[in-house]
Amino acid sequence: MKVTNLSSGSKGNSTFVASENTKILVDCGIGIKLLTKNLSEIGENVENIDAILITHEHSDHIGGLAILVKHNPGLHIFVNELVWKEIIKKHSELLAHQFVHFVEYEKQFSVGDFAVYAMENFHDSVSCASYIVSCGGGAVGICTDLGIITDHQVDMLSRCKVVYLECNHDKNMLASCGYPSVLKKRIAGNHGHLSNDQCAEAALKMVQAQTKVVVLSHISENSNLPEVAYSRVAGEFELANIKNVLILLSYQNRVGKTITIN
Ligand SMILES: [Zn+2]
Ligand SMILES: [Zn+2]
Repeated sequence: MKVTNLSSGSKGNSTFVASENTKILVDCGIGIKLLTKNLSEIGENVENIDAILITHEHSDHIGGLAILVKHNPGLHIFVNELVWKEIIKKHSELLAHQFVHFVEYEKQFSVGDFAVYAMENFHDSVSCASYIVSCGGGAVGICTDLGIITDHQVDMLSRCKVVYLECNHDKNMLASCGYPSVLKKRIAGNHGHLSNDQCAEAALKMVQAQTKVVVLSHISENSNLPEVAYSRVAGEFELANIKNVLILLSYQNRVGKTITIN
């Protein structure tokens, strides 16, 4: 299987995952133009996507969904029922869509070639999912938009060769940035976003198990920098004498590296 992040951050999120026979997205928080452009960079197109897994109803994750469905009416949508109800409140044009499947947490389900497992995140949406997508012996975990990560989530993600893990903010940069204090509290709270410190601590546990590639994701443009996030996590690994592990980044304005998982 292959996985490529198409966009990551508070302005839009989408990740493409493909096996030989199945092509899916996790979230579509970018517009159709950008989605089409970014997919074309990896030789793919909107019409060939079989299904989408939705994490939660925040617009940086579903803002492009309704228009995507217009371009791909056969798209299968996998989503938690509460999240779906929230989405259709704002996007009533999706009400008539035929191929909606409700996701239950901590239960495996199939999407074409893939086995998918969803876990619920601590986040300030009606509900929010992390996904583990597996095919053959390979698995990728996609885990963003959470204020704290549980031992269970770390344990499950530790079994994935590749994990896209939120590395949202540097605590000091968040404290000193121009956000209103309510927003700072929200981001740093238990239902907000993972800090670089939290990410580093969780990522270390994962690479001490079976994870080989950690992709730092949902990096804030206002309270973090890619190099700050990278060096925080790399430093944590160095201290623990971890070697032969790759740290990559997801970007808001650039297609990430395609990772092949066997
Ligand atoms: Zn988000
Ligand atoms: Zn969110």
